[in-house]
Amino acid sequence: MTKSFVDLKSENILKEECKISEKDVHTPNIARLKTDLLCRGIRVSASEPYYRELVPAKYGTGGKSRAGIAGSGRNFLLEHGEPANLGVRQSFLESSPYEFRIIEGEGWILREGEKVLRATVRTPAWHSTAWYDQVQLHGNGSLATALTNTCVYKSRPGAGCKFCIIDIGGEVVRHPPEALARAIREIETRSELRLAVDLVKKYGTPRPDQSAPSETIEPVDININSGSEPDGGTGLFAEAVAAIRKVSNLPIGIQVCPPGKPELERLRSAGVTEISFNLEVYHEDYRRKVIPGKNRDHPREKYFRAMAEAREIFGENQVESWIIIGLEPAEETVAGMEAIARSGGIPLPKPFRPLLGSDFADQPLPRLEDAVTVYRAWREIIRKYKLDPLATRAGCGRCNGCFPLREVLEYGI
Ligand code: SF4
Repeated sequence: MTKSFVDLKSENILKEECKISEKDVHTPNIARLKTDLLCRGIRVSASEPYYRELVPAKYGTGGKSRAGIAGSGRNFLLEHGEPANLGVRQSFLESSPYEFRIIEGEGWILREGEKVLRATVRTPAWHSTAWYDQVQLHGNGSLATALTNTCVYKSRPGAGCKFCIIDIGGEVVRHPPEALARAIREIETRSELRLAVDLVKKYGTPRPDQSAPSETIEPVDININSGSEPDGGTGLFAEAVAAIRKVSNLPIGIQVCPPGKPELERLRSAGVTEISFNLEVYHEDYRRKVIPGKNRDHPREKYFRAMAEAREIFGENQVESWIIIGLEPAEETVAGMEAIARSGGIPLPKPFRPLLGSDFADQPLPRLEDAVTVYRAWREIIRKYKLDPLATRAGCGRCNGCFPLREVLEYGI
């Protein structure tokens, strides 16, 4: 019988330095394997009956693709219990060695045709209702939403972030605070909306069981994202959070451009738990090239000042910052992570994903070895600055679907 990661872990034969190679098929280093999956995505054969459940005909419109590069993947649940947001419909997938298949009743991630890791996909019932327009499940228990699918930088020629597809689909969507709060209250209070269909249980039997709800999703946090407002402010976030706070006690994470201290205090008073200012790239030359509009309005020193102020207001380990691997030399990403940590934020390094429809759709994929270099440095930086990513109560780092951070902390890479 094929041994998977969990079998091997219990036999204590995982090796920290093992590479993604033929040997790795049977001795996976889980952090490295997840990193490679995040870099290269996963294929699903169009002949499989579950193909369309995993590979949408088009990206989610109306804000469901969110800002940045994360909202466009499929959320897999890996056998060690962590989620992975993997690319499933980009052109680079043709060269991915990874494939998802259900084989004899078990969901498998295959590498070059060999089983490496069990996985499944869980879809909550509310994804088939109107509430899905407002709130989507991310990871194992994040209620994620984008307040708008517009961004001031996308509306200015040449100013938008090159990797981002927030405005895909053409329609303009804004979620009023009351509508969002209502969606979250319904999802939290009506357990039938949180019943999840497990893809492997549904298709893993000879005859698909279309109704096979298996378990209930337990919400852990709320993750709010948006495009940038014309005034660069955070008023929409404050209104949305205040409305949600009236109906929910879940920790709330938000992702914003760096505001001043009074706005940070207003967000805290409204009920924000965790805050993320996404640096994206560090070196000035690459910032000008990759995030031209945002960089003009928000130079990197503004990010670091906001992180330091936010740490005072939101507390230790409640400030984060995405930084993208593969859009600048790895040593610049490492320098950026150190600058984030020095300012009191937890860096969230994420492998770049070239999204169809973005300006960077044809950019090369990040190299695994660069990503490994970054994640090794990340672990050292976390220790050096005495940060504790496991203490973050809301937001992308807590979810862990876009990064291998918990795996790097637990197993090394
Ligand atoms: S600021 Fe950049 S990443 Fe954020 S929504 Fe606008 S274009 Fe996208």
